[in-house]
Amino acid sequence: MQRVTVLGATGSIGVQTLDVLDRHPDQYQVFALAAFTRWQSLAELCLRHRPRYAVMREAAAAANLRSHLHAAGCDTEVLEGDRALEEIAESADTDVVVAAIVGAAGVRPTLAAVRAGKRVLLANKEALVVTGQLFMDAVRQHGAELIPLDSEHNAIFQCLPEAGRSLRGVRRLLLTASGGPFRNHSEEQLATVTVAEALNHPNWDMGPKISVDSATLMNKGLELIEASWLFAMDESLIDVVVHPQSVVHSMVEYDDGSVLAQMGTPDMRTPIACGLAWPQRVASGAPRLDFLSLSQLTFAAPDLQRFPCLRLAREALRAGGAASAVLNAANEVAVQAFIDQQLPFMAIPVCVEDALQHLSAVSCSGLEEIFAVDQRSRDHARAWIRQHGGVNH
Ligand code: NAD
Ligand code: MG
Repeated sequence: MQRVTVLGATGSIGVQTLDVLDRHPDQYQVFALAAFTRWQSLAELCLRHRPRYAVMREAAAAANLRSHLHAAGCDTEVLEGDRALEEIAESADTDVVVAAIVGAAGVRPTLAAVRAGKRVLLANKEALVVTGQLFMDAVRQHGAELIPLDSEHNAIFQCLPEAGRSLRGVRRLLLTASGGPFRNHSEEQLATVTVAEALNHPNWDMGPKISVDSATLMNKGLELIEASWLFAMDESLIDVVVHPQSVVHSMVEYDDGSVLAQMGTPDMRTPIACGLAWPQRVASGAPRLDFLSLSQLTFAAPDLQRFPCLRLAREALRAGGAASAVLNAANEVAVQAFIDQQLPFMAIPVCVEDALQHLSAVSCSGLEEIFAVDQRSRDHARAWIRQHGGVNH
C-alpha cells in the first residue's frame, strides 16, 4: 500500500490525481491533502478520501475547514501554514508526494519531499525552473525518485534508456507543443485577445496560470528549462515542435536515427498513473487512443516572432545563474496582471524581458539567494506594470 500526499489537491492536477487513486483503493491510500485557500473544495475531497491530514496555507481557511470537518464527523486533522506543507511532504508516513502547487510557492514543500528521499511526482515545473541545479543535486544526494508528470517530460522519461538514468545513444529531445489557443493568430489579433480566450485551451483543461503560459508559449519555455535539468541535456539538443493535435507527447531521437515517441489521448491521468505505478502500469481512466479516428498528425516550427516567451526562456537557460528564476518570477507577476486585466497579452513578454535585462546578472546559488532574486524580479515586474500596464481590452 503506497501512502500518497497531494500538494495542490484542489487544482487540476490534484483532482485528476485523486481520480486515479480512487480507481485503485487496494494499492494507494491518501495520507495528506493540501491547498491554498479554497477550503470548501478541500472539505469535499477530505470527506471523500479521508486523509490523515489536510493542510490549508491560510489560517482563516484552515479554521473554516476544521469546523466543517468536525461537524461532519470526519477525523482528518487540519494543519495550517507553510511549515505544515513541508511536514506532510517529508513525513515518515508518506511514500509518494505529488507536487502540484502552481508557481514558485511550491519550491519549499517540493524540496522537503526531495530531501526526505520520497518518490516525487513533479507537476510543479516552476519549482525546478527556479532552483535548477540545487533541486537536481538534492535529488541525487537524498536518493529521491523524481518522476515528471508534465506530459512532455513524462513521455521523454518513458522513451529514454533506463527511464532517464542513461543518455546512451541519445542525440536530441523533441518537445512537442500544442501551440495553444492563438497558434494561428496574427500579431494584430494577439494584441487584443481576452483573458477568457487565453484560458480556453483547445486540448487540455488546466489551471489559469498554465493556461495563459500555454497561450504565450512560456509554458513550452519553462518546459525547455525543465527538460534540460531533468535529463541533463544541453539546451542546444532540445528542439520544440508544434504539434496541434497533442497526441505525440514528446520524442527522443537516437544516434542511429530511431525516434521514440510516447503517444496517447491528451489526458493528464496517463502521466499521473504512470508516475504512481512506475515501473508497473495501472489503469488511469484516460480514453484510449483510436488511430482509426485520427485524421492527421502535423508538425511545424514554433514562431518566435509572435511568441517571444519561448525565445526568452531559451536565452535564460543559456545565460544560467539567476536568469531562469528572474524569468519565472516576472512571468508569474505578468500573467497574474493579465488575468486581472491590468496588462495586455502581448505585454507579458515585454515585462519579462525587461526583468531579465535588469536582473539576470545577479549571482545566486543557495536557496535563500534564489528567493531573494525571485522577490527582486517580482518587485521589478510590478513596478514595470505600474508604469506600462493599465491598458484594458
Ligand atoms: P491549479 O491552479 O488548477 O491548481 C493549483 C493548486 O495549487 C491548487 O490546489 C491551489 O490551492 C494550490 N496553490 C496555489 N498557490 C498556493 C500556495 N501559495 N500555497 C499552497 N498551495 C497553493 O493549477 P494546475 O493546472 O493543477 O497546475 C499545477 C502545477 O502543475 C503547475 O505548476 C502547472 O504548470 C503544472 N502542470 C499542470 C498541468 C495541467 O494539465 N493542469 C499539466 C502539466 C503541468
Ligand atoms: Mg506540459
